[in-house]
Amino acid sequence: MSLNVYEIFYSIQGESSYAGSPCVFVRLAGCNLRCSYCDTRYAYGEGSPLDIAEIVRRVELYQWHLLEITGGEPLIQEETPELIWHLLERGYTVMLETNGSQDISRVDGRCIKIVDVKCPSSGEEKSNDLGNLSRLSEKDEIKFVIGDKEDYEYAKEIMKLMDPKTLKASPPHLSLVFNRLEPHVLADWILKDRLNARLHLQLHKFIWPPYYRTV
Ligand code: SF4
Repeated sequence: MSLNVYEIFYSIQGESSYAGSPCVFVRLAGCNLRCSYCDTRYAYGEGSPLDIAEIVRRVELYQWHLLEITGGEPLIQEETPELIWHLLERGYTVMLETNGSQDISRVDGRCIKIVDVKCPSSGEEKSNDLGNLSRLSEKDEIKFVIGDKEDYEYAKEIMKLMDPKTLKASPPHLSLVFNRLEPHVLADWILKDRLNARLHLQLHKFIWPPYYRTV
């Protein structure tokens, strides 16, 4: 049983509440969406088939406890939940970054899910599986990528659908479309509305040029 892997690498986590932490990334190949601002188009292809034992072996080489499974979209591959289970069983802290179009209930509850909700400017708003809002645990995280005011208003409407307990435990991340919206503009909107959200800058894009990839 194998998964299509684009790359495995070690870098600084740029997103989520773990931003700033060293992290091993397993980037799976392929995505079912085509967001207007996508910065990982290189991962749309098929990648290299690797079985779970080989992925675990390569991850172990980095000798680091924090992992993220990302893409592309990891959950379009049937074996991804099994890979996550194997990594959790070995004691890793495992995060899953998913685009929000796939049912997250297939994934082990110990895994920290970072779930995107696609806003209108992505062009993929209709792909959201909003059922995921009620599948979140208190340690999972929601992320909106905001490109303009319409996206911001959309995010506020979606937040109204969330369980208040989940919202309080893990306020959503509002991230920016890089070079499209200035951070201070989004900051002003959040402050003015007293919105229970976290302004999120994609840290890795400030450390390295936006399309540089560590390997
Ligand atoms: S879901 Fe992620 S990888 Fe897929 S097109 Fe959108 S931004 Fe790119």
